Amino acid sequence: MEYPSPKNQIPVFFEDTSVAFASKSDTKLRKTYWLFSLMNQARVVNLGTFFIKLALKLNLPIKNLIRVTIFEQFCGGETINGCDPTIKMLGKSGIGTILDYSVEGEDKETSFEATAAEILKTIDKAAISETIPFSVFKITGVGSSELLEKIQRNAVLSEEEKISYALLKQRVEKLCLRAHEKNVRIFIDAEESWIQGVIDDIAYEMMQRFNKDKAIVYNTYQLYRHETLEALKSAYLSARQRGYILGGKLVRGAYMEKERLRARENEYFNPIHISKEATDTDYNLAIDFCLDHIEHVSICLGTHNEYSSQYCALKMKKSQIATDDDRIWFAQLLGMSDNITYNLAKAGYNVAKYVPYGPIDAVLPYLIRRAEENTSIAGQSSREFLLVKNELKRRGIGSL
Ligand SMILES: Cc1cc2nc3c(=O)[nH]c(=O)nc-3n(C[C@H](O)[C@H](O)[C@H](O)COP(=O)(O)OP(=O)(O)OC[C@H]3O[C@@H](n4cnc5c(N)ncnc54)[C@H](O)[C@@H]3O)c2cc1C
Repeated sequence: MEYPSPKNQIPVFFEDTSVAFASKSDTKLRKTYWLFSLMNQARVVNLGTFFIKLALKLNLPIKNLIRVTIFEQFCGGETINGCDPTIKMLGKSGIGTILDYSVEGEDKETSFEATAAEILKTIDKAAISETIPFSVFKITGVGSSELLEKIQRNAVLSEEEKISYALLKQRVEKLCLRAHEKNVRIFIDAEESWIQGVIDDIAYEMMQRFNKDKAIVYNTYQLYRHETLEALKSAYLSARQRGYILGGKLVRGAYMEKERLRARENEYFNPIHISKEATDTDYNLAIDFCLDHIEHVSICLGTHNEYSSQYCALKMKKSQIATDDDRIWFAQLLGMSDNITYNLAKAGYNVAKYVPYGPIDAVLPYLIRRAEENTSIAGQSSREFLLVKNELKRRGIGSL
């Protein structure tokens, strides 16, 4: 895929770190620099992860240390209301918040019920807030991953499992119904390929029920899979035939290593594209397809990729779609790619941050993934680290 040219046609640039970090004081910026420079070192992250897990197991008092460092960088708070300062801070720059209850690894009916109740609260909060454009949830937050896998491979379910699946569906219906009643759009996150088929089926059922007038429910499309671009096109046709609006969150996909490993171990065809370029091409083709059919599709680009974000902005311009057209949103994770988020917002695009929240030990797996993502690869510093470094240099202040 060619880079849009000439360059001066591109409606938004992401190099401007003064915009990206405008809301950070010098002290805060130095702290961010310090944190990213630590995460930049793989050995520090590996050792840190080991000791944090150990310390939590031994009940050592390290929660405060986590809270004022990595948690503060990547999470909004421990409770919904604890996220208020972050919501306000983002809102001041014209950036929306998507409250993401990030508790992981719970696998009991009571935990699923508690998670569903918490997500209902995020929907209620979104309904009364001007700067919360979407809610979000993972199907595996409200039901068992193992059960989904069994259903996907058509295994025979026990009576107990049948009840569990009925409960899972009830919870999903309740969330989508509440979102519809309160006119709050809701994303269903995408997960591993061995359960995604069932997630898709549920998402389409919900879209057919709740997306008659506008997109309330959004399914997520992982463009790192060979088949996703075609699946997106079929979903569009099916939505047209059944008379509803397709809601799509476009992502590249988060489970590449896991997918490859499992495909190798079980000797089946790896569902992930052979190269990053192939993923990138499909991602940008998905943007093309959705924008070409925008009368009946609403999208959110969940990406930190500068090229794809610019590609979409340029295509919107060429198609004479207003920058703030409510059918097109961009989203990044809190604490990452602020250069994209803040520059998009400044240029008038709809943009939001996923703001994860939850008790510290429960969001730890999420924090560890963020730390690992920000280590240097093959000696090359992480993108975030370089951005903060550039801004320190621009302000003419030292790192300590
Ligand atoms: C707001 C938001 C919501 C998200 N929601 C979800 C979700 O619901 N489900 C989900 O799975 N992920 C989700 N993600 C994560 C997303 O899928 C990506 O893992 C992450 O954003 C990195 O991709 P990128 O587009 O930002 O850009 P980049 O950094 O340009 O791309 C990295 C991605 O490219 C792909 N890739 C890298 N190397 C290769 C290779 N050799 N071959 C093939 N592909 C390759 C992988 O998907 C990798 O994650 C979300 C991300 C954001 C910002």
